[in-house]
Amino acid sequence: MEIVAIPAFDDNYIWTVVDNGRAIVVDPGEAKPVVAYLDAHDLTLDTILLTHKHDDHIGGVREVVEKFGEVPIYGPTEVSTLATEVVCDGDTFELWGVEVGVARTAGHTEEHVSYLMADALFSGDALFYGGCGRVFTGDYDAAVEGMQYFAGLDDGVKVYAGHEYTMTNLRFAQSVEPDNDAVAAAIEEVVALRDAGEPSLPSTVGREREVNLFLRAESVEEFKSLRDIRDGF
Ligand SMILES: [Zn+2]
Repeated sequence: MEIVAIPAFDDNYIWTVVDNGRAIVVDPGEAKPVVAYLDAHDLTLDTILLTHKHDDHIGGVREVVEKFGEVPIYGPTEVSTLATEVVCDGDTFELWGVEVGVARTAGHTEEHVSYLMADALFSGDALFYGGCGRVFTGDYDAAVEGMQYFAGLDDGVKVYAGHEYTMTNLRFAQSVEPDNDAVAAAIEEVVALRDAGEPSLPSTVGREREVNLFLRAESVEEFKSLRDIRDGF
């Protein structure tokens, strides 16, 4: 099982799990790069996972399905017009004999979910490398609950986030915690990856514990004040 990043728009990644000529596509916001990748690698579309309702995560679904045919589409209630399987917090299902867990990681949108497939976390716009999504709903309680879910995962869990926002997130973290050596080391590593044209992702939950201030926030107030500073950064 291999997980590849299909870049889309300016900074989205459409994560695609590949095995045995089949593909599970997470958040196909744009159809064109997905079709190109699957065609180029002779892959069959097997399943689509959706984390939330924003267009840059779901915009390509219909076109991808038109091209490759109907497949199971998992997603929360907010994408129920597209989803064939509506999922909510605590649900589990199996893909290719591997259990996939669903967690509500809302706040960015009302019903945003994340998927944990073996040691791969697809966190959409809830958790980024070094940061988290904007809380468009204003529901900071939900956002912090999501952070607590992420913080409860094993250090080795790999974080496949929806956007390449890493460098700005780490610069923000460094501005708040100038003496954080882990942040400085991560910046160095990410600069090298980006200079080489590679994604900075996946991160790991262990890494996030060191560099992600949102994951470490101990109260809703602390989370919100960090979010406010980040929004103006
Ligand atoms: Zn979003």
